[in-house]
Amino acid sequence: MNEYIDLFTKTYTNYANYLWKTIKNPFPEGDFNFFYFVIVISLVVWGLELLAPWRKEQKAFRKDFWLDAFYMFFNFFIFNLLLYVALSSVTVEFLNNLLAPLGYEGGHLIDLSNLHWGVQLFLFFIIADFVQWCVHVMLHHVPFLWKIHKVHHSVKEMGFAAHMRYHFGETLVYNSFKYISLSMLFGFQLELAFIVYASAVAIGHLNHANLGWDYGPLKYVFNNPKMHIWHHAKELPESHPYGMNYGISLSIWDYIFKTNYIPYDGRDIELGFDNDEVYPKGFFQQLVAPFRKEK
Ligand SMILES: [Zn+2]
Ligand SMILES: [Zn+2]
Repeated sequence: MNEYIDLFTKTYTNYANYLWKTIKNPFPEGDFNFFYFVIVISLVVWGLELLAPWRKEQKAFRKDFWLDAFYMFFNFFIFNLLLYVALSSVTVEFLNNLLAPLGYEGGHLIDLSNLHWGVQLFLFFIIADFVQWCVHVMLHHVPFLWKIHKVHHSVKEMGFAAHMRYHFGETLVYNSFKYISLSMLFGFQLELAFIVYASAVAIGHLNHANLGWDYGPLKYVFNNPKMHIWHHAKELPESHPYGMNYGISLSIWDYIFKTNYIPYDGRDIELGFDNDEVYPKGFFQQLVAPFRKEK
């Protein structure tokens, strides 16, 4: 037990130091500044929304803008700082110890870290995205996970920051599966994770933005605002009673597994879920909502 507590405190202090260093030094040599990246990409996508809005009457500070801005701050920085980094290194250690009797010695089953970095990046991106697509489908089909995921679907008006409205429980689910698939099964150069994550953040911001974009023929490969808005539709079609358009960065999985659905231009459709009128509106109420009995 002491081993875990030690690890917890060590990782926690390391992350706090790392974050503080990042904030003080916007351009670290040979490193990627994630803190400022999130701020810059948010301002860029927000700027695009204001220049070429899809729903012209939508306000710059749309409904729940500040709630979502707080979620962004919380999910990226506070949750990482308080809990996630510390917990995940403990989980990794725990998983490794658990699997040791089965002959697992840490490391990965298939080592890809010797391949050309471009090939690695390509594979890393595709595998990570597919794993996330599967987890997202699960979030919609498993009742308890759906309760956690409902926070994200409580968005009533779309804008880039809606991307970051999600319960921290989702981070734990996504990252456990990503750890198992990307670190235990396949070994990649660790530095690539930042590039993959950063591009996913940029694409995710765009998917939720008030932009009428679908990238032309590339819409069959990349998820886009015109497709993702249907993922948030309040009314679900009989053909897809649990949901549709589960894509994270790529839309290709939905076309392969026939979970794609764009019946017409979804610019003005109603967003949310059944009975969302009585769903809690504040951050802390939403945090505990999955653990409470639903009315
Ligand atoms: Zn969803
Ligand atoms: Zn979404």
